[in-house]
Amino acid sequence: CTTRSSVIIIGAGISGISAAKVLVENGIEDFIILEAMDRIGGRIRKEDFGGISVETGAGWIAGVGGKESNPVWELANQSGLNTCFSDYSNARYNIYDQNGKIYPSGLAAEFYNKAVKLAIEELKNQEAKLCGNFTLLEPSLAPKTPIELAIDFILHDFEMAEVEPISTYTDFGEREFLVADKRGYEFLLYKMAQTFLRFAPEDKIIDSRLQLNKVVKEIKYSGNDVTVRTEDGCKYVADHMILSASIGVLKSDLITFQPPLPKWKTEAIMKCDVIVYTKIFLKFPYKFWPCGPGTEFFIYAHERRGYYTFWQHMENAYPGSNILVVTLTNEESKRVEAQADDKTLEEAMGALRDMFGPNVPVAEQILVPRWWENRFQRGSYSNYPVLSTRKDFVDIKAPVGPIFFSGEHTNEKFNGYVHGAYLAGIDTSNALLEDMRRKKVRNQARSLHF
Ligand code: FAD
Repeated sequence: CTTRSSVIIIGAGISGISAAKVLVENGIEDFIILEAMDRIGGRIRKEDFGGISVETGAGWIAGVGGKESNPVWELANQSGLNTCFSDYSNARYNIYDQNGKIYPSGLAAEFYNKAVKLAIEELKNQEAKLCGNFTLLEPSLAPKTPIELAIDFILHDFEMAEVEPISTYTDFGEREFLVADKRGYEFLLYKMAQTFLRFAPEDKIIDSRLQLNKVVKEIKYSGNDVTVRTEDGCKYVADHMILSASIGVLKSDLITFQPPLPKWKTEAIMKCDVIVYTKIFLKFPYKFWPCGPGTEFFIYAHERRGYYTFWQHMENAYPGSNILVVTLTNEESKRVEAQADDKTLEEAMGALRDMFGPNVPVAEQILVPRWWENRFQRGSYSNYPVLSTRKDFVDIKAPVGPIFFSGEHTNEKFNGYVHGAYLAGIDTSNALLEDMRRKKVRNQARSLHF
């Protein structure tokens, strides 16, 4: 089968959907969206677990209440998405040692302030290194004890806003809201898609311009057009393409390009890091953890950094659900993804029994998302090294022939976030529309000339 259209969009995550919406708003109806999975949403994904909807991908609308309005917060309000306020800065005052004792808040604050100072020093060191002026950190300052390691983890893996300004918080505000809606965060995408794709009455998308289960394996491009082949043997030809696959996918060999992407592009892709972030959900027969103000998040201090460190109860979002979430990152995420869920349950129970005593009941269910092993993701979100240059962002976003790059990793200010992906889709389509206009003017001038 060969299908021809004006634009092919690869990926039906929020950036692919927002890109398509902009095209339609500007009169380009002749597009096709190729999505590898059997659903839209990408890294916005709910799953039924323990009687509620849990968000295995994005869970928070981050950056609310500031001088500018977060566009995703606006979408949530327009579509009546249920959310609840969530404040994980409290976590540092609920740090448990392995004997179930909470570290005194004064001590925790002292360690936290020390860690912030250290992180600022580290940042200065890296800047100095760029100018050839590198001073090594004293080894004695590096975190070593369980509480130091736990604080280092929450600071670096969750709260770097205390060390360097992060646009999400400086522009949109410091508040964060957890999505607590049976319809899931993905409801925002369905609402958006409904404005330009055909839906059946039972909310199923029936528009042939959205093709699910289409895994793109090859992209052939020239100055004039682009040809895509999918794993099921179909061929799609278009004048332009918007490629919104994640940075993890771009680093992998899932898609081959002919001719290969230029060196400046592949170098920019390789320079951008991928964070693996895993939320493990556990359902219990009853609650055994503290609830009430200031208790939503708690920390387990262990001698291994990031070992079942960051915990959250779901009582604020879903009272009575008896669900806990523990977040792992990077190497710990990869380790846990590679092992059987029973082993993960055993490890998590060990951490909980250290904190709350030997009589804690075994979880009845466990859910371990695998963002790293998922070949359509290969990680959770992009992370530009602290000293990335403007050129790195420009190169990652810049088109190559008819291929326009989109996705959260192409948004210089808000990469890594849902709003970054949403705005990236809009930006990419606007750049493509501008290119189409320029080409049209050029062609008109040529035809007048001859
Ligand atoms: P994606 O959603 O990844 O969309 C790309 C699509 O391309 C996918 O559907 C994929 O299946 C498809 N695709 C890939 N390869 C191919 C191929 N070869 N052929 C066809 N289709 C292909 N952000 C927040 O703002 N708040 C949070 O709390 C938050 N938490 C997160 C927690 C986790 C665990 C994860 C994973 C992410 C989190 N994020 C969070 C980040 C946020 O989810 C992403 O930034 C955003 O959803 C990315 O959207 P996207 O459209 O750029 O990419």
